[in-house]
Amino acid sequence: MILQGKDLTVRYAGAEAPALDRVSMDVRPGRLLAVVGPNGSGKSTLMKALLGLVPVEHGTVVLRERPLAAWRRAEIATVLGVVSQREEILYPLRVEDTVLMARYARLGPLAAPRAEDHAAVRSALERCDAWALRDRRTDTLSGGEWQRVRVARALAQEPEALLLDEPTVALDVRHEMEVFELVRALTDGGLGSVVITHHLNLAARYADALLMLDRGRAVADGPPGEVLDAGLLSSVFGWPVAVTAWRDGSPQLVPLRPGETGV
Ligand code: ADP
Ligand code: MG
Repeated sequence: MILQGKDLTVRYAGAEAPALDRVSMDVRPGRLLAVVGPNGSGKSTLMKALLGLVPVEHGTVVLRERPLAAWRRAEIATVLGVVSQREEILYPLRVEDTVLMARYARLGPLAAPRAEDHAAVRSALERCDAWALRDRRTDTLSGGEWQRVRVARALAQEPEALLLDEPTVALDVRHEMEVFELVRALTDGGLGSVVITHHLNLAARYADALLMLDRGRAVADGPPGEVLDAGLLSSVFGWPVAVTAWRDGSPQLVPLRPGETGV
């Protein structure tokens, strides 16, 4: 087990209901977990709780058999690669330098990057189809290019697990598929991964397991075929859907138009 969250409850100051209510999940090598649920259901809060970025009112987070609180932040970055949902570019840098900064958790402060650091940066950028962007300034990138650079930066840490919060937002079909293919390949290579996504159909095809949140609670947890139930989806998302199957057997969702009935 790389990372385990148990019974996590998070309540933001002033909020009546908890944003996360006794949710448990774990990150295992070789398993891709997709976290799904409507806007505001607690997905990003779950990721923040797993990273120690919000205080938990109840529950525990354990990273590699040690309580998260016993880890230093730079150490956490050598195990967990993270792409958060939102990130502002405060200080524009060259793309290659931005990704190189991810190596400092391994290097320590003031150490000069070594050949292996530059190689890890190049390899990460290449895997994200972003090597050609290496000399661009980060504030000149399109939304999709910036996303790919951010995924590359998480990979350059050479982590044991990847946590990605809506990594394919603003990506076109090819780049969206490439991100899912990349995460799947890395997971097959032994990485543990968690992808928060609204792409239920891609989650169904790529993920080993799905965790569905609704108003802070885990309402389903298991293989895609179990979690993506038409009745449950219609009720959680507040819109009628039908579930059909693609050739590979994975459930595929079709939102219904008014008056349409399911399959
Ligand atoms: P999701 O990622 O599933 O869209 P979030 O985890 O971002 O949902 O948010 C869950 C709930 O917590 C929402 O109701 C949101 O408004 C609230 N929330 C998120 N972040 C904060 C915050 N920093 N302060 C107060 N409330 C927050
Ligand atoms: Mg979110």
